[in-house]
Formats: sequence, C-alpha cells, structure tokens
Amino acid sequence: MSWLQLANKTCIVTGAGSGIGAAVAKALSNAQCHVVMADHNADGMENVLQEIKSSSLDYSSSFHHVVTCDVGNEKQVRDLIQQADSFAETLTCESREESPRVRMLVNCAGITRDNWISKMAEEEWDDVIDVNLKGTYLTCRHFLDQNRVDWLFPKGNDRSVSSGSIVNIGSIVSERGNLGQVNYAASKGGVLGLTRALAKEVAIRNINVNTVIPGFIHSPMSHAVPDHIKERMIHQISVRRFGDPEEVADLVCFLLSPRSSYITGESVTISGMIGL
Ligand code: NAP
Repeated sequence: MSWLQLANKTCIVTGAGSGIGAAVAKALSNAQCHVVMADHNADGMENVLQEIKSSSLDYSSSFHHVVTCDVGNEKQVRDLIQQADSFAETLTCESREESPRVRMLVNCAGITRDNWISKMAEEEWDDVIDVNLKGTYLTCRHFLDQNRVDWLFPKGNDRSVSSGSIVNIGSIVSERGNLGQVNYAASKGGVLGLTRALAKEVAIRNINVNTVIPGFIHSPMSHAVPDHIKERMIHQISVRRFGDPEEVADLVCFLLSPRSSYITGESVTISGMIGL
C-alpha cells in the first residue's frame, strides 16, 4: 500500500463501525495512515478496532482515535473535528508540511428507511436526509471551517504544500432509482450535487472532493434486503455478484491519496455493472 503515500497522514472516517466505513478504516490502517473513527455505534467501532489490532497485517505504525458521533447533529460533528485535531496534535511530526494533521475525510455513515411513497412517513424521509445528506454537509462544513482551511489549506496551486481530500459515498440508487427508496435516492443525489459544488469552492486550496458510487455491496445494510430481492439484484449486475466492502475501500484510498491529485468533482462508480 506504500505507493498510495498515505503513511503518517490522518483521516476521519464516518460510519467506521460497520461495512464500507470499517473496511476503509482497515485499509487506511494498512497504509500506515492514522484514523479517526466516527460512528453512532460505539460497539461496532470497538469491534473494528479489535479486528485491526488482532490482524496479522502490520498496523503498528497506524494510530486510532474513536469518537461516538451522530453525523446529523451539528454540535457532535463540531466536537468530532475538534477531537480529531487534538488527536493529530499528539502524533509526532517533523515539520508543518509533514505533520499528520487531519486533511482527509471520508463520509460513509448512511441509513435506509425504505417504504413506498404512498406509505412513507415524514420521519422516514427526514431521518434519511438528516444522516445521508445533512450529515455529509455537516462534516464537510466543520472539516472546512474557516480557521481550519486558512491554517491547513492555504490558497494557491503550490503542489509542495500538503493537499486535502474528501470522499463522499453516494449510491447507484440515485443514478438508476430503486423501488421503495425515494428518500434514499434523493439523499444520495444530493450528495452528488454537494460534492460537485464543493469541489469548485475548494479547488484553489488543493482539496479534492469526489463521490464514490457503490452498486450492491455486502454489508449489514444490504444483508437486510430480503433474499428474493437480492436474487433479482444479482441479475442486474454484469459480473453476477455483490461487491465486497474491501473493493470499495481500495477505491476510496486511491481517491484520498496524492496518486489521484488531478481528479476532483468526479463521481466514480464501483458496481460490477457494465453500461449503466
Ligand atoms: P452499514 O454497514 O449499515 O454501515 C453504516 C454505518 O453508519 C453503521 O455503523 C451505522 O450505524 C452508521 N450510522 C448510521 N447512522 C449514523 C449517524 N447518524 N451517525 C453516525 N453513524 C451512523 O452500511 P454500508 O453498506 O457500509 O454503507 C456505507 C455507506 O455506503 C452508506 O452511505 C450507504 O448508503 C452507502 N452504500 C452502501 C451500499 C451497499 O450495498 N451496502 C451501496 C451503495 C451505497 P448503525 O449500524 O448503528 O445504524
């Protein structure tokens, strides 16, 4: 993983207690990156951390900080960013440019509340928008707080100055639609628009912002789908299988890394489907 040049950098990963977020936290750790894991599921994060520590892979150069946080709650998100910055302060650094300050963010926290629109309660709409879309706005908003950006991401296109990267997780459902998911599709379409607009705002500060668009991926979220519907989904996938969270995590790591420095405002689909 060293070609990714993520060693001794620090990244916040929301939704790190399960599925894709957990796989991203593990992949970053394997790349010797320090990880601030954020999720409202504290037990999930504890399990992921134990898996990282007991793994046969060498994670010894990667440090972790765990924050219990509801991404839809502004106060908790502000506190998350502050805790992340304080954690990074405790990590050793030789110069400001090389310091492991928090310059990377991955937004994986997400939920579904499926229902036909004729039966969808306002609460089911609001919950999904609050976590998937407002949560992404809030983490980006506080990650890019004026004091932080002026200090960590000065304006200019000097590529020797450390850059930043944000990866948001969208969904194939906002591209293709899906029965019973108008709330989810709208939230993920919003994430796409947010990403493109934000990428334009921060390009001058050397910060890349991209969306990863997974298709159907094995995780507790997709395992909740009834078997007969999963069977139907498999037939829509050209490679005839669900993806693994680790496959999405590899793409996320690439988009975080300086290796993808000329990619911003993009959405990259990872779905096993040809000719969407
Ligand atoms: P997952 O296994 O359910 O993981 C999502 C994590 O986010 C869970 O730990 C969840 O905690 C946490 N979370 C939920 N609400 C939160 C909140 N308000 N604040 C903080 N954390 C919260 O799902 P996944 O499949 O890994 O999904 C990760 C992302 O990929 C989501 O944005 C999802 O929409 C997207 N995605 C998934 C698929 C797929 O097929 N799996 C496809 C396309 C896109 P709880 O478990 O306690 O709720």
